Amino acid sequence: MLGSAAVSIDSASPAEAPERRDFIREIVAADVREGRHATIVTRFPPEPNGYLHIGHAKSICLNFGIAREFGGRCHLRFDDTNPVKEEQEYIDAIEADVRWLGFDWGEHLYHASDYFEQLYEWAVHLIRSGKAYVDDLSADEIRAHRGTLTEPGHDSPWRDRPAAESLDLFERMRQGEFADGARVLRARIDMASPNINLRDPVLYRIVHASHPRTGDAWCIYPTYDFAHGQSDAIEGVTHSLCTLEFEGHRPLYDWLIDNLPVPSRPRQIEFARLNLTYTVLSKRVLLRLVNEGHVRGWDDPRMPTVSGLRRRGFPAEGIRDFATTIGVAKADSVVEIGVLEHAVRDVLNRTAPRRFAVLDPLKLVIEDYPEGNAEEVAVAENPEDPTAGTRTVAFGRELWIERDDFMEDPPAKFFRLAPGREVRLRGAYFVRCTGVVRDAAGRVTELRCTHDPSTRGGDAPDGRRPKATLHWVSAAHALPSEVRLYDNLFSRPDPGADGDLFGDLNPASETVVPGALVEPALATTPVGQTVQFERLGYFCPDPDTRPGALVFNRTVTLKDTWARLQAQGRHDRP
Ligand code: ATP
Ligand code: MG
Repeated sequence: MLGSAAVSIDSASPAEAPERRDFIREIVAADVREGRHATIVTRFPPEPNGYLHIGHAKSICLNFGIAREFGGRCHLRFDDTNPVKEEQEYIDAIEADVRWLGFDWGEHLYHASDYFEQLYEWAVHLIRSGKAYVDDLSADEIRAHRGTLTEPGHDSPWRDRPAAESLDLFERMRQGEFADGARVLRARIDMASPNINLRDPVLYRIVHASHPRTGDAWCIYPTYDFAHGQSDAIEGVTHSLCTLEFEGHRPLYDWLIDNLPVPSRPRQIEFARLNLTYTVLSKRVLLRLVNEGHVRGWDDPRMPTVSGLRRRGFPAEGIRDFATTIGVAKADSVVEIGVLEHAVRDVLNRTAPRRFAVLDPLKLVIEDYPEGNAEEVAVAENPEDPTAGTRTVAFGRELWIERDDFMEDPPAKFFRLAPGREVRLRGAYFVRCTGVVRDAAGRVTELRCTHDPSTRGGDAPDGRRPKATLHWVSAAHALPSEVRLYDNLFSRPDPGADGDLFGDLNPASETVVPGALVEPALATTPVGQTVQFERLGYFCPDPDTRPGALVFNRTVTLKDTWARLQAQGRHDRP
């Protein structure tokens, strides 16, 4: 009875019963159940020093997802504490990417720089209470004093300088009296702590650089470690979710919260970062790929950035589904890239309109089809979606088919077109190959065929069924297009494992097919819409596309390597 009462409470409040449970959602649910918070507040805190990648997407889905499921809110906060590496371009791109992923921070857009004055006051508070001091050691000297994992650090000679002296120097640091690196503000914690993060970490450094938001108002900037936890506390963040590398910083964040008059106490929970095979998820490396010209830009379709995946044609829903599939865990793992492609195919199979395109065209002439005759045939817009209806495609005497759909001397398992053989042209007629035309070099340049007029629409009255159905485009209507085929950016599942990351770049990551021929409807497919080129894969118009100069990107192939691996039981899905 007690049990069923508990169940009914749970199901009565959807906010307490999210569908998906992982160790973080369990913690949040328990905090809600035990009445620790009126509203759940999470945040996604990017540093605007690069574009977002698929790892960030995992964090975004987690933070915004939890806020949504628990009826709370999620802030977007830029951790903009390092003006040297941060740019407005990145801020704009990050906002656009989070929105595109389907999330909305409403009015809760914040910046660590919004809190610079408050953070400065708190630094002064620490100095006054003997918990911080201005250190005159250089960065190198501080490093040398820090000790190692096995040896304690050494106190700076300035560690015990009077608070009044530190206050004066800190104020003058702010006024711009000293050069970059001349002095820093450090917390006064414990140089012998086994946790190196607690060995008097730097809280403020002098950086004479313009900030994208505060301009030249400041020449001292808080470190990430000093800004982060306090920013969470100011915003009333209840659950501060971050990746495992910050686990060792948590005692420092707690120390700062304990020693400052902050308005709230965030709870930090760490989870494992996303790692993907054949992929590098590090802004530092991605920046080098862009700057050194290995790719055309942050949104190059081979990049694991959100903008690259978007340009490649990945639907946001597929990325969100991927995040759900992989879940969150405390232990590091590497996710097979096929899991992401599988999630994307799943969405596209349901949603992508079907189109005809021929990448490597071979002419097919139907000799018994009246010259000058033109008709339109109806083809399913999307066989997976009965509500999508049909589209009409122009058909004629001269068509283009895929060169590899024909073999003059086919081996046993080749069921497509060959001399004397009949195949179905999707949505149109059965055709039989009666001859070939060659050029001087002996290469087949044209197929001659006949058709069976009674098979119009793709079915024979006598019930006979060819072994193959081919896609095609009408030669009189087809439009030329460039098609860009993509493969993994790196050629090994663990790029850089041998110490030569850039040597592991896949030289065949992009193949440009210049002479594809596509059905006319593709001229008006908008950028952002991914379609299926029947039998070939999913494709989308690239932003480079122009009227008369179409460009398509291959999003993913139809072949689902992941499903195959799964069937073989060779997968390491977490
Ligand atoms: P990078 O290592 O790529 O430079 P970062 O951690 O420095 O990333 P931030 O802008 O600080 O980039 O990241 C914002 C948030 O995204 C952080 O909370 C961080 O923990 C999270 N995040 C970054 N990379 C990943 C990842 N691979 N998987 C999951 N979350 C990530
Ligand atoms: Mg970071």
